[in-house]
Amino acid sequence: MALYASIILDNPSPEIDRIFDYEIPFELLDRVFSGARVRVPFGGRNNIVKGYCLEVKENSDIPAGKIKMIREAPDKEPVLGKDMLLLAKWMKERYFTTLSQCLRIMLPAGIDIKNSEKTAFLKFERAEAEEEAKRLSSKKSLSAQALALNYILENGSAPVSKIIKELNISLSPLSTLQKRGVIGIEHKLIRHEFKDISIDQRETVPVLNSSQKIAVDTVTESFGKNIKPFLLFGITGSGKTEVYLKIIERVLSDGKQAIVLVPEISLTPLIVGRFKSRFGDLVGVTHSRMSAGERNEVWKRAESGEISVVIGPRSALFMPFKSLGIIIIDEEHEASYHSDSSPRYNAVEVAQKRCNLSGASLLLGSATPSVESFYKAQNGEYRLLRLYERAGNAKLPEAEIVDMRLELSSGNRSIFSRRLYSAVKEKLAKNEQIMLFLNRRGYSTFVSCRKCGYVATCSNCSVAYKYHYKGNFLMCHYCGQKAEVPKVCPSCGSKYIKYFGTGTQKIEEEVKKLFPQSRVLRMDFDTTSQKGSHSRILNAFAKGEADILIGTQMIAKGHDFQNVSLVGIMAADVSLNTGDYRGGETTFELITQAAGRAGRGTTVGNVIIQTYQPENYAVKCAARQNYEEFYKNECSIRKTMGYPPFSTVFTVIFTGKDENKVSEKTTDFCSILYKLKKNNGIYDNISVIGPSEASVYKVKNEYRMLLVLKCADENVLRDLTGKCLEEYRQKNKKTDVMVNLYLSAQNIF
Ligand code: ADP
Ligand code: ZN
Ligand code: ZN
Repeated sequence: MALYASIILDNPSPEIDRIFDYEIPFELLDRVFSGARVRVPFGGRNNIVKGYCLEVKENSDIPAGKIKMIREAPDKEPVLGKDMLLLAKWMKERYFTTLSQCLRIMLPAGIDIKNSEKTAFLKFERAEAEEEAKRLSSKKSLSAQALALNYILENGSAPVSKIIKELNISLSPLSTLQKRGVIGIEHKLIRHEFKDISIDQRETVPVLNSSQKIAVDTVTESFGKNIKPFLLFGITGSGKTEVYLKIIERVLSDGKQAIVLVPEISLTPLIVGRFKSRFGDLVGVTHSRMSAGERNEVWKRAESGEISVVIGPRSALFMPFKSLGIIIIDEEHEASYHSDSSPRYNAVEVAQKRCNLSGASLLLGSATPSVESFYKAQNGEYRLLRLYERAGNAKLPEAEIVDMRLELSSGNRSIFSRRLYSAVKEKLAKNEQIMLFLNRRGYSTFVSCRKCGYVATCSNCSVAYKYHYKGNFLMCHYCGQKAEVPKVCPSCGSKYIKYFGTGTQKIEEEVKKLFPQSRVLRMDFDTTSQKGSHSRILNAFAKGEADILIGTQMIAKGHDFQNVSLVGIMAADVSLNTGDYRGGETTFELITQAAGRAGRGTTVGNVIIQTYQPENYAVKCAARQNYEEFYKNECSIRKTMGYPPFSTVFTVIFTGKDENKVSEKTTDFCSILYKLKKNNGIYDNISVIGPSEASVYKVKNEYRMLLVLKCADENVLRDLTGKCLEEYRQKNKKTDVMVNLYLSAQNIF
């Protein structure tokens, strides 16, 4: 009797996101099972396409003569476990996406790549090879060989393809070195990890303090009980990572595995080193700079049980551990846990679901929890665990707020307040390092008064108006209301009202003018576009090759600079007035994180916050590092305005190269939406905001329109959104305009 398989094709199109039946040929009976990959003929031309088998069954509705045969099946064991298939189905519903897209991201991109790669390694004795490298370097004509040999000396063995790419050389210098016996080239298993890991040599693991102990005990006692997620809330340096390590120890001794998610930016050799020093070869690391083959290798080792702990960015969530004990998400508030390409999932939610399905625990950690998460902890959806003070001896830095309005009235028009200027001078004299920090890349988007701090704000939505250069007008990106740019300040009558315009470059120029002797590094999107430049700048600063580091939020996180004793926040206002409801939250988080950079070593740090809104609660609470007070303020505003967590907000984004078509499709979508709304009273409470142009309207030659939907009842909103998307997709099977949905108000208005 024949057996059949339910197949999902590996194709992102919503139209074919359904089960197709295929017959399993006799010779593939032991290779087709739930969670196996297959290749099948599809469509009129029977093109061979990839797919996934969901289940094997004895019957099919397709008549015997018509059903097609599976052609290939490469797997001996499922690549997708039962839990993962269930998780994918859940994600499809939750994120209004297709099953095939969810299944695809669960497997490493390089899964088809062979496990070995041509790898070059040293054959000469080291001293001999170094001699040889010197000899080669002295001859210009042999410089490519010298480069290659030096690379291998420095890195140990390395994939040939990688050497060729990074050094921009051809294969021939490597072949020559091989022929001469200096190096060998063989197919080897790939083992790529951080090469500059400093394994922590500390002999003793610190004895946990009492709040750390309570946290560890509470989490470990809950193992296997499948209860609520934990939120571990403690300032930077309060010992959260020590708590993670201790808990993982327990997980491993129970014979289970752990996944640790960290934001890519804090995935540094330092943190990886701490895990490696505790758990040695049981730890695997993934990060975006690894090749597909390298990532696949980690995935395979997780599947085979060779490693039991994986540290990585959000995609590490899908590691194929067979007996998962815990998922830990550090810095849970980070935006990078929201995927910005399809499927647009939220790693915290997906982690919670995965833990649910596999009986694992979930632990979220943060010094500045997202308002949504803290709200869940307050109303019992999460269990709150707290660490109260900095572990060890490091002191919290002292933060001062400088009122920039007073600078103007005393005749100082520089972007440096007198206080910050003298502090920089003092630290330079003491040979201590300084970080100057601009909360965002410096293009201005809002209009404010430099005399009184007034910000042009939409009266309907309590968010700052966005300034539009083209056309010189103001617009609210929530309700679409437009306004003129005021010539004088409506609040104090001063003429110092203009759009806010400080960029990192401008700060650099000013620093060079005011402190000509200082050595300056700048780190922002422009200076880090090249691969590797990011860590090059940070390493140079860590080594003391510069006195002042100027940067955006890239410099605010993760790194420990022992000699930094002053952090200057140039303009807290930039993140306060982003034109979305999360300005306060972003500001609090960025100031707190930036302040955490000062005084890491033995020196006491200073933090100076410059702002035109010194009375703002987010600025004030951040200066005092008082999260809870901030949270209370923030919640009362959100409640009044009906913003999350007191409502659910979805953002629909329309993108396309043809401006008219984008606008036309946006209108089409809206008419469907309004029609559905009119036909059913339950949708009355859904507010439709927009459509409006995204604040960065044109990106990579594509135009972007946004539509924001808001409702207190998430289920009602999901219902309408689902119906609307379905009808829209039915009517627009072939169009060049992409429609995407974010399950939140993304920071792109
Ligand atoms: P977080 O993850 O909250 O930033 P860490 O776990 O990195 O904090 O701890 C900060 C520093 O304090 C680290 O150097 C760590 O080794 C040290 N530390 C943590 N817990 C203790 C403790 N109980 N006793 C002494 N030092 C500790
Ligand atoms: Zn004013
Ligand atoms: Zn508005």
